[in-house]
Amino acid sequence: MKIFKDKHILQKEISKTKGISFVPTMGGLHKGHISLIKQSKKSKFKTLVSIFVNPKQFNKKSDYRSYPRSTKKDLKKLKNLKIDYLYIPTFKDIYGFKPKEKVFIDKFSKKLCGRFRRGHFEGVLNVVNRFLEIIKPRYIYLGKKDYQQLYLIKKHIEKRKIKSKIIECKTIRENNGVALSTRNLNLNDNQMKIASKIYYYLYNLKKRIKKNYNLFNPNRVKKDLRDLGACKIDYLENYNIENFKKINRQNKKFNIFIAYYIKNTRLIDNI
Ligand code: AMP
Repeated sequence: MKIFKDKHILQKEISKTKGISFVPTMGGLHKGHISLIKQSKKSKFKTLVSIFVNPKQFNKKSDYRSYPRSTKKDLKKLKNLKIDYLYIPTFKDIYGFKPKEKVFIDKFSKKLCGRFRRGHFEGVLNVVNRFLEIIKPRYIYLGKKDYQQLYLIKKHIEKRKIKSKIIECKTIRENNGVALSTRNLNLNDNQMKIASKIYYYLYNLKKRIKKNYNLFNPNRVKKDLRDLGACKIDYLENYNIENFKKINRQNKKFNIFIAYYIKNTRLIDNI
């Protein structure tokens, strides 16, 4: 595994390869990230993982500061996985140049997390646009756990006619159903149990409302979730996962999208 901190040295190395399969992360690596990396390793291109906690996508400084970091452990995991390249850029390496492409922000960025984390997706697309320009990957591996993010990156790539192909990767869950997330490191055992109950509640709800959508009563659901231990619910909405249209009748393709807090930890999922 070769480690790079400087984009020019990285680009020199990349120019010697047939192409790159790229897995962007913010570190705090868990089995979700690892499944993306394993899929990337199956491609015919060299696997490059990046670790960069992007300050521009955090709408609160305190959230940026408390975001879990575990670089030493991450390095060990990546070495064991035998990835080809690791890119750990500095802020200046990423933001010290003007990208050729302008970021395209689809209107769906205003919904769901965009309503509650102002500037979040602008920050995500800004950094992804820069990574795409530096690395020019053949493939980019993204998790469906962050479905809205994946959708907005897809729209940017389409609009700007960027030649990288997105590989959509399924959400990896703990045995108790909770989607793996770096933020789970901030949950204690009891809070993890709450997250698990909320997952099963939503899993069963989806089964029921798939059969009869009239059974969906958002206010009732929110109350039940609060009773289970969710402190604050930013949103609970159903969308068609292909075109992000809202659901108002029987439709088999929807997911339930949720963002909620357990104490100070904000969790998102789509089920
Ligand atoms: P992050 O480090 O949180 O920015 O995530 C890096 C990538 O890993 C993103 O494409 C995420 O969607 C993906 N990811 C995060 N958690 C999971 C998970 N539980 N299952 C699958 N992919 C995930």
